[in-house]
Amino acid sequence: MTTHGTEYRLDGIYRQRQEGFLMQRVKLPAGAISAGQAHAVAEIAEQFGRGLVHLTVRGSIEIHWIREESLPDVKRSLGRAGLTSRGACGGAVRGVTCNSQGTTGFPVLESLARRLHRHFTGNPRFERLPKKFKIGIEASTAKKRHLIQDVALVLARTEGCQAWYDVWIAGGLGREPQEGFLLAEAVAETRLIPLIEAIIRVYAAHTPAGKRLKHLVREIGREELLRRIEAEPTAHEELPPVTGLPESLVPDDMDGGNHIEVPFFAGEMTSANLRDLAVFADTHAGGMLMVSGTQNMAVTLPAGSDTDSGRDALVRTGFTTDTREARVTFRICPGSHECIMGLTPTRDVAREVIDAMGPVAESLTWAISGCQNSCSQPQLADIGIVSSRLVTGEDGQRSPRFDIYRAQEGGLGIKTGEALDKDALLAELKRLG
Ligand code: SF4
Repeated sequence: MTTHGTEYRLDGIYRQRQEGFLMQRVKLPAGAISAGQAHAVAEIAEQFGRGLVHLTVRGSIEIHWIREESLPDVKRSLGRAGLTSRGACGGAVRGVTCNSQGTTGFPVLESLARRLHRHFTGNPRFERLPKKFKIGIEASTAKKRHLIQDVALVLARTEGCQAWYDVWIAGGLGREPQEGFLLAEAVAETRLIPLIEAIIRVYAAHTPAGKRLKHLVREIGREELLRRIEAEPTAHEELPPVTGLPESLVPDDMDGGNHIEVPFFAGEMTSANLRDLAVFADTHAGGMLMVSGTQNMAVTLPAGSDTDSGRDALVRTGFTTDTREARVTFRICPGSHECIMGLTPTRDVAREVIDAMGPVAESLTWAISGCQNSCSQPQLADIGIVSSRLVTGEDGQRSPRFDIYRAQEGGLGIKTGEALDKDALLAELKRLG
């Protein structure tokens, strides 16, 4: 196996901050994973990692602490479980996300996510792109996730087996957050794959290495971008409708059932937790689990079932929501705990914020990113924190500085505080809370 960084990234692998260890990311279409696959991931984490898995805000699973020599075995083990990491990092079409889990009709969105995942994953035409290319599918614009994707599909209407989607493009966060814009309304599902192909071809042909589609919009403007997409041969192509049985993992009697999130602080869970949830899913939830956009695991109980008894069963299995950490919605990237880019120990800072805020923390949504890449989507939280730089003090010690983002009606959050040290950050947060 080549050790070239690009190849590792295309296989969903990043080097960790800790020398000699790597992180393996696994793509899950719409965050859905079967109980059997969850057992396989738990096994991989135990055998090749440290028995820990990390849940991402994009519904993927990461396994840290893998040695380089174990990577082929990890890949084989994922393959045996029907899982893939191809394109989970690097210049590729990343995992297709959906934050509308638990809504009635989710199986329609999940089925589309699976089709897009299958079409673009490992397809050489859509690899070695200038940078990552993110696709998200949502039932509505309520959570504002459509603003941060390279392509976002928002369900407009359904008729029989057919669905139409509003198509938003060219959003993204990172150092230069930019809201996506509406490319076309109510596009038939039969046109989506050729249209996305056209968008990716334009992106790949005209964007410098290391830049996202949002950069191209800034360079050439929306009108010129639209003109170039329109000029692509597949921009208006229509494929035959997809027929056959539904592809969703959600059993028929669970569509619109009772959705329960099982919280994990910072998306950190043990392989034992994952096994226990897989057993629970097999017994109570149709053998299906989901990674939520809040870095929790979720299950759907059959429609008409008793949510309280489902929650009681989870508590008996050892899962509780009875701590402040569990009750606070706080998206947290790995930061300097494991990430090579991290400027700050995000989990530690988040705990300090929760302690400092007290009960008020539970009434807000939070996110903290360990660098300006903004992987935890701080611009979508009520209060977002970004560790933006390190400053060297008179004693020669380097310490992080933080920016604060506040949510805005309908759009991305805006920066309201800049370059605060940790004491100033906590003081400002208390003032805002
Ligand atoms: S935001 Fe920065 S520190 Fe956090 S996971 Fe992303 S790259 Fe790493």
